Amino acid sequence: MSSSQKSSATVTTARHPLRRLFDGCTDCDICRFLMDESCLLFPEMYRLYDEALAQKQSPSLEVLNDLTDRCTLCGLCPCPDVRSNVILAKAMRTRRQGLEPGARVLSDVQTFARLGRKAPRVANALLSLPAVRRLLEKVFQLHAHRRLPPLATEDFFSWAAKEGLSRKGTPPPGTVRIAYFVGCTAAYLFPEVARAVVQVFRAAGAHIEVPPQQCCGMPTVVEGDMPRSLQRITANMSTLLRAVQDGFHVVCSCPTCGYFMRSLLKENACLATGCLETAPQAEPQKRGAAGQPWHEVPKALGSPQSTSGQTYGPSSLADDAFSSLSPSERLQLAQNLWDVGEALGRLRHEYGWHPRWRPLKGRWIYYAPCHQREQNIGTPYFDLLQEIPGLELKRVGSSTDCCGMGGSLGYKKAFHEKSLQLGASLMDKIIKEAPEAIVTDCLSCRLQFQHVLGLSVHHPVEVLARALAAPR
Ligand code: SF4
Ligand code: SF4
Repeated sequence: MSSSQKSSATVTTARHPLRRLFDGCTDCDICRFLMDESCLLFPEMYRLYDEALAQKQSPSLEVLNDLTDRCTLCGLCPCPDVRSNVILAKAMRTRRQGLEPGARVLSDVQTFARLGRKAPRVANALLSLPAVRRLLEKVFQLHAHRRLPPLATEDFFSWAAKEGLSRKGTPPPGTVRIAYFVGCTAAYLFPEVARAVVQVFRAAGAHIEVPPQQCCGMPTVVEGDMPRSLQRITANMSTLLRAVQDGFHVVCSCPTCGYFMRSLLKENACLATGCLETAPQAEPQKRGAAGQPWHEVPKALGSPQSTSGQTYGPSSLADDAFSSLSPSERLQLAQNLWDVGEALGRLRHEYGWHPRWRPLKGRWIYYAPCHQREQNIGTPYFDLLQEIPGLELKRVGSSTDCCGMGGSLGYKKAFHEKSLQLGASLMDKIIKEAPEAIVTDCLSCRLQFQHVLGLSVHHPVEVLARALAAPR
């Protein structure tokens, strides 16, 4: 039985996830007020609930199905089982109805960028033709006001191969070794961000490599495309955990990839049989004691079969869309993945990196995106950026603010207006500050800020790279 078949089997035997979600959250009621402005799902769910009370009739599954599209997996609501149930509901619906053409295109940057990268200029020219734009609107249901970002003329993986970053190197003993998970948006659309990551780690004295990798899986999970997601997640878990075993620290610069691999993917893994006895003990943010040379932590955790000889059973994970994956590997990946900002902060404050920052001018704001905040890693970039002389940087955005893009959902005709509504409160706060530019880690937020505010937007690591003075 294939991974996807196993997943399907567990789904069909469980109570419908939307029913579980509806019953649980309407019973609790906390998010009626907590999430009334930051989420599209909860206001609609409580509206349905109030209607059901008035009519003394529970909403049908058909009606509840509309809730599926309203969750972007932003991570802001308090309970993880909301996301588990939504992911299952999305998977069930896509299996039943198939993927819409627009969802297929928007959720799979990897495939379409690889197709276009032989001739990116031709692909970009084609995408800007009015006839092609009409086709995108009509067949793929993309909103007329949105412009797809152009493909990079040289994607990051091609550049990295030329730089020798995709070959295994032999750094001097004691050098911090970094394996960089790039993420599709930076790799194919904004490779300057990924090149800045390489530049900054090199300036910090680290050895950096780019292992073979696939899309993290989050965009396809959002669209319910589980077979494709599971295939990619499996490939990534294998190469990234091998890098850990070889003594590398795996880092990623995309908060969505990080949130997916560190939080979402591991959420129910702890429910696996025997998990508590054999799972890694330390929480990600506590990894490595202060003063311990970073190249010695974290230790490679070994393969799931070799950690204890204990087997993991899927029985207690019956309601999880990732239950066909090894729970041990899900936990190991979560524990051994670092956000780039977090890794740089650690190099800076604990392991002797003393950058010489060149002054920069500007009155900018920093927005920590939802998927960064939900990783519970503090604000490592903001702390580093504040060291740059001359840069006036103010943090904007509360713990429930969201840009509203929902990955790439803002591009869809059906979601465009809702996406603008969701981001309105944050946009107002930014407009009030009248900044010259925005700094944020999330490239989807970048697209939304550019669309709504027309301001220039930078990834924090690009700003750090610019502020690094040439070494003496
Ligand atoms: S997400 Fe959690 S806190 Fe919010 S309504 Fe549902 S059960 Fe209650
Ligand atoms: S994950 Fe985000 S979009 Fe989904 S229900 Fe929770 S708050 Fe709403």
